[in-house]
Amino acid sequence: MLGRLAKWLRLAGFDVLYSNRFSDDELIEISNRERRVLLSRDTRLLIRKSVRAFIFIDSEDIQKQIRIVFEAMHISSLGSPLSRCLSCNEMLVEASRDSVRELVPEFVYSTQLRFKLCPACRKIFWAGTHRSAVVRTLQRLLPQQGD
Ligand SMILES: [Zn+2]
Repeated sequence: MLGRLAKWLRLAGFDVLYSNRFSDDELIEISNRERRVLLSRDTRLLIRKSVRAFIFIDSEDIQKQIRIVFEAMHISSLGSPLSRCLSCNEMLVEASRDSVRELVPEFVYSTQLRFKLCPACRKIFWAGTHRSAVVRTLQRLLPQQGD
């Protein structure tokens, strides 16, 4: 249910584990074992005694969801935007321009200088205008200093 939020938080550079295949028990077990904060819209899940750290996402609006997380986690700056794979959460590694030549559209190759590669799923990422706009949006959603 929170797949979009997971992608946005990964874009912001945060370590976000997401799958809609986990059962409630698995979600609780994994978040406790890996000391993760459980994000959910499901109050029945969050009131269970075994849940240690959670944020209740009380909105369907993506921007409000991001704001809820930033405020609850006291996040005042973006960690390292565009550093994680949006699909599998792995840390991206630098890839040389030569090595991605055959793998990205010609327009992208000719306009971008820096590329990153996901070591797990082999997807290639570059900054691009869309992603820069997303980072600016994320920055606007950060809690204001002194709030
Ligand atoms: Zn990946």
